[in-house]
Amino acid sequence: HSSRLSDSSLHEDKEASSSSTEFLAKEISKRRNFAIISHPDAGKTTLTEKLLLYGGAIHEAGAVKARRAARHATSDWMELEKQRGISITSTALVFETDDHQITLLDTPGHQDFGEDTYRTLAAADNAVMLVDAGKGLEPQTRKLFEVCRMRKLPIFTFINKMDRPALEALELLDEIEKEFELSTHAINWPIGSGDRFMGLYYRPKNEVHLFEKDQSHGSKEASVQVLPWGDPSLQTIIPEDLYQQLEEEIELLEAVSQPLELEKIHQGELSPVFFGSAMNNFGVKLFLESFLKYAQQPIPHAADVGLIEPDYPEFTGFVFKLQANMDPKHRDKVAFVRVCSGQFMKGMKVQLARTGRQVSLTRPQKMFAQDRMTVETGFAGDVIGLNNPNTFAIGDTIYTGSRVVFPGIPSFSPELFSYMRNPNPSKYKQFQKGLTELLGEGAVQVLYSVDSGRTDPILAAVGQLQFEVLQYRMSSEYGVEVQLEPLGYSVARWVTGGWPAIQKAGKLYNCATVKDWWGRPVLLFRNGWSVSQLMAENSEIGELTPYALPP
Ligand code: GDP
Repeated sequence: HSSRLSDSSLHEDKEASSSSTEFLAKEISKRRNFAIISHPDAGKTTLTEKLLLYGGAIHEAGAVKARRAARHATSDWMELEKQRGISITSTALVFETDDHQITLLDTPGHQDFGEDTYRTLAAADNAVMLVDAGKGLEPQTRKLFEVCRMRKLPIFTFINKMDRPALEALELLDEIEKEFELSTHAINWPIGSGDRFMGLYYRPKNEVHLFEKDQSHGSKEASVQVLPWGDPSLQTIIPEDLYQQLEEEIELLEAVSQPLELEKIHQGELSPVFFGSAMNNFGVKLFLESFLKYAQQPIPHAADVGLIEPDYPEFTGFVFKLQANMDPKHRDKVAFVRVCSGQFMKGMKVQLARTGRQVSLTRPQKMFAQDRMTVETGFAGDVIGLNNPNTFAIGDTIYTGSRVVFPGIPSFSPELFSYMRNPNPSKYKQFQKGLTELLGEGAVQVLYSVDSGRTDPILAAVGQLQFEVLQYRMSSEYGVEVQLEPLGYSVARWVTGGWPAIQKAGKLYNCATVKDWWGRPVLLFRNGWSVSQLMAENSEIGELTPYALPP
């Protein structure tokens, strides 16, 4: 089934023959793409900036505070972009080191946490799990981890804020191992924490990296003194208790650590772990170097015709995010495409699998900022913003050559539910039109009540902002002032057995029965506990799933 599309199966095509596999392979091997998963305030913005600093994209980091003040309106990165004048889209940030081209995909957090945050992970090949050393695992990290697990993404753990009071390093690893059933391998190990955070023990080389606090407050690369473990001077530099603790912990790590197997990392079964302080630049360089060494390059994608390898010479890609510009002066919609194979070229003509139509990709990446560079070319692992209003839907496949269809991107389990009411019956048509179009963009999901007789659509989303955006756009684009009535549910479960299973299960308590856009039964619960209770009392209901692919 998963036969690889080989060159011989291609139609003769001029464009295809011009992009030789070797040329593609070279471009692909340079590329590393990743997304950061974290809970707000763990230091994503700070780490991003420091990665840019060490990646050579900027020469001085700073003013994180000033950015924070303005961040709620826009993506963190758009603010970064304004300040630094570097090429960042709100969705993908690209920077180059000597040997690599790195794409960092934005996973919006804070108020703008939503489906897009999850969908971005569909375009990522690697994830960096950023953990606050003082707090351990937090809710948003857990949710995003689930999506990474589903996709078997390699997970690199960066435990940040070691300069603050921190949980024990071993405790943190234990939490990750137990809760996520994810093996860990610490690449470096902290020497002290909080005020006594002195440096890191770098295990691959048995070196001690001692940090020197400087006056730049992290705006410049940190100075580091590197000494081999066993160097006698270490015992005078490192306080006795910390030295002893380190000695014991190193021994313990050697005894219990899983070996660092690349394959396991790439399967998402083993997470390399790094400690550091992004704010002080401690450990960022070691992290970036190791990440580039162990991260996977752009991966093949499963499609209806089999695995599409990144060096498959025809261009293929899928839309993972649609973004409507909220600024009324720029009414653009941008479709973000993850390139899966071949070469993207400005102006190229592609087929859109869903409609069978040909689309000319004429205005790539021209959005938001007036002076944005247009993208001329792109390869597997890259993200390209296409400015083709109303052409694309989430999950769309575009391709050249033989027909290829990538599976859709799953909807994620909504946690917020709200009736959307149109108080003005004369606006019925606009209401329906707006609802259908905005749903098509995947901003929210819509459900309909089954047991209450009420016909108003129920909006379902993972973030509150999605409701507000929808309400705003219904008014500004369709002229309908809708009213939202929040419902007290927080968990949705699709019933795999469909309506027959519901019938078999009999009367259901402590949940509401609704149907999705395709008429499939969904149960809404107040909390996870009600789900377990229902499962225990109505076993006939069969399997329940937190989301369902479009049929
Ligand atoms: P985000 O919400 O994940 O993007 O977090 P930010 O990067 O905005 O950081 C949140 C707060 O934590 C800011 O006040 C940062 O200055 C601070 N912060 C980030 N990294 C560190 C660190 O390594 N040590 C300390 N002490 N503070 C940090």
